[in-house]
Amino acid sequence: MEKVKAKKQYGQNFLKDTTILDKIIQSMPTKNNYIVEIGPGLGDLTKNLVKYKDMTAYEVDTDLIRILESKFAIEIEEGRLKLIHTDVLEAWDKQKTLHDGRYDLIANLPYYIATNIILRAFEDSACENIIVMVQKEVAEKFTARVKEKEYSSLGIITELISIDSRILFDVPPESFDPPPKIMSSILFIKKDMDKVLDKDFNKFLKACFVQPRKKLSKNLTSVLSKEAISEIYKELNIDDNVRPHEVSSSLYSQMHTRVKDGRN
Ligand code: SAM
Repeated sequence: MEKVKAKKQYGQNFLKDTTILDKIIQSMPTKNNYIVEIGPGLGDLTKNLVKYKDMTAYEVDTDLIRILESKFAIEIEEGRLKLIHTDVLEAWDKQKTLHDGRYDLIANLPYYIATNIILRAFEDSACENIIVMVQKEVAEKFTARVKEKEYSSLGIITELISIDSRILFDVPPESFDPPPKIMSSILFIKKDMDKVLDKDFNKFLKACFVQPRKKLSKNLTSVLSKEAISEIYKELNIDDNVRPHEVSSSLYSQMHTRVKDGRN
């Protein structure tokens, strides 16, 4: 096989451990959704996925596209694999969804944009299940629960938009070539298909967590007057001393509704 030098700027760490590749395939939802892969790389995960379902893969690197086109010539010819040469974030800017019709996102993500990709998948109403390799630390943020120290806007949004979210298993650096410096995890999120992410809510949460160790009421002064804060606290029965990570996602959602109502 052609020897390829991994490009750091594209977050290229190729997954070589066949046991881990098998475990990812086994954790795929049984439902017959179409598959979208982001960053097929040298195609090791793609090869396993395309055996089961038709799929589309988005890859930004021209050199890899060339290799993939020759490796998967038959699958492309038969229409089982659609290979799209683009930056996936630009694709989302242009077309809102990565596939017309319900799909599952299964990928070993480029870590430099992993959080962004997952948030874009939350906004994509066609995406149902997300099974992605990310930095362990990022996976912990998406699955953190109230009062845990990692609980922040990512955990809150995930709780509100999903019906299931879990870390499936961890993956050590030596499973990759080249090995990354950090531990990785496979993150699973099953979205609630009746919910869509409100961009304004994300902005509101960022303000709530701007100084995560301070009192929430202090952080809220950037978006609300002191009078409005004490009115909302009274109405929702929130303790004046709470810190941002001690408030449940449903309370954040109710707070945001009141903030929006106040603006209208
Ligand atoms: N799936 C392969 C594997 O498991 O070995 C490669 C995973 S590697 C961590 C990330 C892949 O994402 C690389 O192939 C990289 O070129 C690609 N990538 C990086 N940035 C991208 C972007 N903005 N849009 C699409 N693909 C991107």
